[in-house]
Amino acid sequence: MPNPLKYPPDTDLRRLLRFAPDEGAIWLGERRMVLLHTASLGALREDLINSIGLEQARRIFTRMGYASGLNDAEFARRTRPGLDLNAAFLVGPQLHMLEGAARVTPLKMAFDREAGRFEGEFRWDHSWEAHAHRQKFGPADDPSCWMLTGYACGYTSAFMGRLILFKEVACTACGDEFCRIVGRPIEDWPDGEAHRVYFATDSLVEKIEALSLQVEALRSTLAPAGPCGSMVGQSPAFRRAFELLGKAAATQVTVLLTGETGVGKERFARTLHELSARRAGPFVAVNCAALPAELIEAELFGVEKGAYTGAHAARTGRFERADGGTLFLDEIGDLPLPLQAKLLRALQEGEIERLGSETTRKVNVRLVAATNVDLDAAVKAGRFRRDLLYRLNIYPIRIPPLRERGADIELLAQTLLARFTALHGKRLQGFSERALQALGRHGWPGNVRELENLVERGVILAAQGGAIEVEDLFSLSPGHGHGDGAADRTGLDPHGQLAALPPDPDEDLCARMLASGLPLEELEHQLLAFAVARESGNLSAAARRLGITRPQLAYRLRRGPMPSEPGAQ
Ligand SMILES: [Zn+2]
Repeated sequence: MPNPLKYPPDTDLRRLLRFAPDEGAIWLGERRMVLLHTASLGALREDLINSIGLEQARRIFTRMGYASGLNDAEFARRTRPGLDLNAAFLVGPQLHMLEGAARVTPLKMAFDREAGRFEGEFRWDHSWEAHAHRQKFGPADDPSCWMLTGYACGYTSAFMGRLILFKEVACTACGDEFCRIVGRPIEDWPDGEAHRVYFATDSLVEKIEALSLQVEALRSTLAPAGPCGSMVGQSPAFRRAFELLGKAAATQVTVLLTGETGVGKERFARTLHELSARRAGPFVAVNCAALPAELIEAELFGVEKGAYTGAHAARTGRFERADGGTLFLDEIGDLPLPLQAKLLRALQEGEIERLGSETTRKVNVRLVAATNVDLDAAVKAGRFRRDLLYRLNIYPIRIPPLRERGADIELLAQTLLARFTALHGKRLQGFSERALQALGRHGWPGNVRELENLVERGVILAAQGGAIEVEDLFSLSPGHGHGDGAADRTGLDPHGQLAALPPDPDEDLCARMLASGLPLEELEHQLLAFAVARESGNLSAAARRLGITRPQLAYRLRRGPMPSEPGAQ
């Protein structure tokens, strides 16, 4: 038997595993894990075999292992991207051991990723699956480590980018001393095709899934879905506000929308318009805070030709343009006092006067106003007319902030995900579980608008075909996602005992280097100079420390930090 290949240290992988008993969760990187009794998996196996037969049970367990291998292959890409192919590949066997599947000894590994060639042979000792099978069924006729074999196939296939079929050629369930698997591309096995059913997801099913995802994404960009229009929410707070809106839609009442910045007041106003009998008429929105005070009057009420220097032509105001429809005045608290009087008159009389005109015009407009400031306080401070507030406050609707809509966050995030993946032409697996949890915990000071921004950023940053992870959503500022509480950093120490993990020195070092703001060349130069100084000027010793040759070190020292590119700061 050939010499077993040596494993690199698995510190990087153990660091991925975090026990968070306070939140009732175990994490492997971004993926949530669970501790199961092998006895319960054994019982499941027995039930499945007895109810649907050996072949179907084998298929289910194989695919289960396959899925978990696929998931773990993601870690190979992320954890050891810079290392050689052997070390990167061994993430799989090492994770498999960490996850308690079996002791894995690589006997043979030869691969060429570009040419798609792979040849591997592994030995398994203490396979939990063989043990569980034997316990329930006694000695088996055929190798029985289905889930483990599925894992090897899923992991290696994802790693190689083509379907690699592993077969178990010896198994302790059959009385062999240990289990042994052999893997190569499915086309290289004479009977490979017959095994395809166990491993590959049904390609037709995959296609249908991909298509339905596309349809879903397109639908969400095209039309408002359901009776809530583009508004999404199931939380009691949201439903209450939406019910009030529905009742107001049937009437002509003036509506005052209150709520924090970013809760979606304009969306509510638009939906009110769409639900009302005025839906065929125009919906005109004005943000009172966005216009300079001297322009608002002309903007709202229009201008007669020659009303002031520069008024070369008559212009209709927003009030007139909203005739027969809905006028939405956002941030009404910022309306200057003289205009408040004019607005009040327009509301009471149903008519307006253009700037520089003596004649009044009838307008038929439903007003929806919105504010994120306390208008009562503004009245007390003399910044807002009490009579206008009374006129506006007939039917107030408070739109709840996102933090009071816990049940809606995931729903909203998924809706936004579909919209932005379509917009940016991305195909993603959705949010990682950890990312969803971080979304659920965030305080959302910027409300739905903040969520929109985060999801759009996540869609842009996530790798094509991958999932949106915590760091794609939240920048690595403390207090977000990772690292909230010591319980989060509980992991396995080198003795396999649960212990509080120190901060990752690599991550820490990189964070400090980034924070220094120095360009890469300058960092390199400082490191070289430091090593030389440490070795009292002995270049050979410094080079050894740095893992390069003496001439390389001498060359890099001579070269010094690269001059900045012209035009760079
Ligand atoms: Zn086995």
